[in-house]
Amino acid sequence: MDAYVRVRGLTKTFAVRRGLAQVMRGEHPVVHAVRSVDFDIAPGETVGLLGESGCGKTTTGRLLLKLLEPSAGSIAIGGRELAGLAGTELMAFRRDAQFVFQNPFDALNPRLSIANSLSEPLVNAGIPKAEHLDRMKVVLERVRIRGTDLLERYPHEMSGGQLQRIVLARALVLEPRFVVADEPVSMLDVSVRAGILNLMRELQDTLGLTAIYISHDLALVRYVARRTMVMYLGSLVEDGPTEDVIREPLHPYTRALIAAVPQPRVDQSRAPLPLRPGTADARKVGAGCAFVNRCPVAIAACTAERPPLIDLPGGRRVACHLVQAPRAAVAAEPVLS
Ligand code: SF4
Repeated sequence: MDAYVRVRGLTKTFAVRRGLAQVMRGEHPVVHAVRSVDFDIAPGETVGLLGESGCGKTTTGRLLLKLLEPSAGSIAIGGRELAGLAGTELMAFRRDAQFVFQNPFDALNPRLSIANSLSEPLVNAGIPKAEHLDRMKVVLERVRIRGTDLLERYPHEMSGGQLQRIVLARALVLEPRFVVADEPVSMLDVSVRAGILNLMRELQDTLGLTAIYISHDLALVRYVARRTMVMYLGSLVEDGPTEDVIREPLHPYTRALIAAVPQPRVDQSRAPLPLRPGTADARKVGAGCAFVNRCPVAIAACTAERPPLIDLPGGRRVACHLVQAPRAAVAAEPVLS
């Protein structure tokens, strides 16, 4: 089956403030927020993008929705190459691909009523005004908001849970096929998170959405996504079925992430894995593995050469010099030395 999302060599750099010596030398230093990332997502698949704050996952989400332009590499979504999309093609893409923002309190304009917030994307997409109310009713029903009483309210008159349902409704009102949800419940009270997550799972199933959930929260990713990609300082370091990644993490960083969360059924022979002291600083990544300054099992090759993301049996991928791809003739299990 053709991928719905196809990403190749995706790279995003940002200029960093120059010191006097760099100005004198005419240097223009950059930091890599995303570093040569490759992945495919099948139609209707839900993928979790897991990693610490600052690892490049939100930048990746914004690149996928063309809210940022890549420095290098390519993105195709639903068969459309995003580079150079303009005019009616860009409008069609904007209808098909939506972002669910982290903070419902920031995602909605406080000066607009809920009706106006929901009709804004319809206006931008050129949907006739006569259709707006019907479309709003359908989408409110989908996010389990009964009736239309809330339409005349303003964001400050609503609870966090209601607002996040409205944010979801706004993302779905154009009936998109692809959704990127960035930490969609992190700003909500614990008491309403489960309800929103259940709703998002139901919507995925009923609407057949292709979706990426961006989160630092392993439990959330486990709940909503059958496949998980782990990101560290702009690189994809591990990818595979979520339960397999959690039960048998192969990359030392994934092992550390999982060891930090109580997981009663995780294979304890692979955890815990204490990190060496050090910080995750994208400005200090050299030619080798981005994780080398914190990795407790690094070897000499790790500072010299960036490990490629290799394919393993079971739909898994990992980027670590200590994990070898099985030889073609031997159906061996991956081994983490
Ligand atoms: Fe650690 Fe080296 Fe593997 Fe990177 S490549 S995770 S530094 S062992």
